[in-house]
Amino acid sequence: MTIFKKSLFTLGFAMLGFSGILVVSVMVFMNSLYHEINIAGLGNTAKMLMAAIGEDNVAEVFAENTIIEDIDLPVNKDGAYRLTLIATSGYVLWDSHVKDRLVNHINREEVTAALEGKEGFSHRESISTDIRRIYYALPVICNDSVIGVFRLSVSIPGFGARVSPVILPFITFICILILIAFCAIFLFSRSLSTSINRLVNIIQKGAVLLAPPGAQLFSGHEALKSVTPDFHSLEKALRIMTEELNLRFEQAKSEDSRLEAILNGMSEAVFAMDSSLKLHLVNPKARSLFSLGSLDVKNKTLLEVTRSSDLVEIAKKTVSNGVALEKELTFLAGSEQNFLVYASPKHGGVVLVLQEITRLVKLEKVRKDFIANVSHELRTPIQLIKGFSESLLDIQPGEENKEQVINFMEIIHKNAGIMENLTNDLLILASLENENKSVDMEEHSAIMLVNEAVSSMEFQLKNKQIEIKVKCPEDLTVKLYGSLIIQALINLIDNGIKYSPVNSKLWINVYQEIKEVLFEVRDKGIGIPAEHLNRVFERFYRVDRARSKGSGGTGLGLSIVRHIALLHKGKAEVESHAGEGSVFRIRIPLL
Ligand code: ADP
Repeated sequence: MTIFKKSLFTLGFAMLGFSGILVVSVMVFMNSLYHEINIAGLGNTAKMLMAAIGEDNVAEVFAENTIIEDIDLPVNKDGAYRLTLIATSGYVLWDSHVKDRLVNHINREEVTAALEGKEGFSHRESISTDIRRIYYALPVICNDSVIGVFRLSVSIPGFGARVSPVILPFITFICILILIAFCAIFLFSRSLSTSINRLVNIIQKGAVLLAPPGAQLFSGHEALKSVTPDFHSLEKALRIMTEELNLRFEQAKSEDSRLEAILNGMSEAVFAMDSSLKLHLVNPKARSLFSLGSLDVKNKTLLEVTRSSDLVEIAKKTVSNGVALEKELTFLAGSEQNFLVYASPKHGGVVLVLQEITRLVKLEKVRKDFIANVSHELRTPIQLIKGFSESLLDIQPGEENKEQVINFMEIIHKNAGIMENLTNDLLILASLENENKSVDMEEHSAIMLVNEAVSSMEFQLKNKQIEIKVKCPEDLTVKLYGSLIIQALINLIDNGIKYSPVNSKLWINVYQEIKEVLFEVRDKGIGIPAEHLNRVFERFYRVDRARSKGSGGTGLGLSIVRHIALLHKGKAEVESHAGEGSVFRIRIPLL
């Protein structure tokens, strides 16, 4: 049973009960009113009758105090009114309707009152006829004392008998009224209930519709057309509320997806957690960094997921201090990885952002090493130049010191040469590192490049009487940076000359493999011990420091060669055995 049906029935029963009580109360009230009116009327009639007879005449009857057979009074036994004259002893002296001797009336209620000097009345009913007789008694007073009772009575029908002709139509009328009221309430409740049910239906449907974004809950809803006007404001409020909810829902969704896209696309690892360091968000980068796969991180702590006490310490500090923190950390996940950790307090928790800076750290180290190496390389020649130039200043110019002076100046010259070589190589390196090459790669004849490199080294070759044998297809052309390949070949030929004995041979071989062109420089010189082979291409790396420096080497030649090969997306490699000679190759991929 719906709440409206319940209310309806309760109201119906209440109305019936109330109407019943009302009818009974009205009846009771009217009954007593009816009685009072009758008594009052009888009292008045009694007084008027007494006045009409004359109080003295009445007093005379009582003065004689004997039963009177006949008397001329304006009431007779056929009339509706019955007059009784009662002596103070209670005996009836005269009665208009009964001629026989009557019983003593001393105990009659109205008589008792009259004998006390008051007006008295009472009523008695005849059960058999439903006829009520009412009595009104007046005291007859002579010389301030009651000498008898003047009682008038009349028969009137009972209240029930009086109202019985109208009671049925009255009750019928009341019932019809109740029925009409009940029907009206029923119809009103039903329309109210229908309206509310419709609204509830819409809300229920709305709750389901809210799930997908963009649900238009109320606008143009069929059911609304039959909602009573009283509920239009409720409907309006619900509509506004729903539209607002939809809008918020959409906004939250789009913000969520935007945030998700940002988090997914971030190259930084992100962890969001509450103040007890229980995680509630981890982005894909963080997952891959700590090999979490698809692990459900909800309710797991930062320590459980990352196993990093350093990260936990940073997070805890941020929670307790409530201020953002920044710290560098190193993790050993296979290889060493460096991170810059940003920790910021958010809504009572912490957000950690880990930015990988391994490359930056390495570059920084390379930069520092490079500066240290360059300074180290420059220090010796500068010191020598400074020392010998000071010595030169101290020497007295003269024929006897000529040899010494020349010796000193040769040392200065040689060291200046070393510095020149160094600065030249540094300049070449700097220009190679500047990747914005001003010229594009061009088609070059391989033999031309080789010939140019060889002719640049003619002086050194002749100096050490080294013969060079070139083998290169005449028609081989390659797309490359011509001047850089010449530079690389010069460096390799220069090394070949430096590390080969006098009067020996060098071989230059250029040939094509499937997708590459190889420039190969071979010598039969001192060779490189196996343990140095994978380091010779590093900057400033020398197998034999003294020997390299003695021949004006900077330790940068091979690193320039490697750099040039890399610029062509190729590579530089070496094969060598100590005492047997070396083979250096530059592999240039064919585009
Ligand atoms: P450097 O200026 O010292 O020659 P490089 O970078 O050209 O510097 O070479 C690095 C080191 O590799 C040299 O110091 C040398 O020890 C070794 N090396 C290079 N080329 C040869 C070679 N053809 N034969 C033997 N050792 C070589």
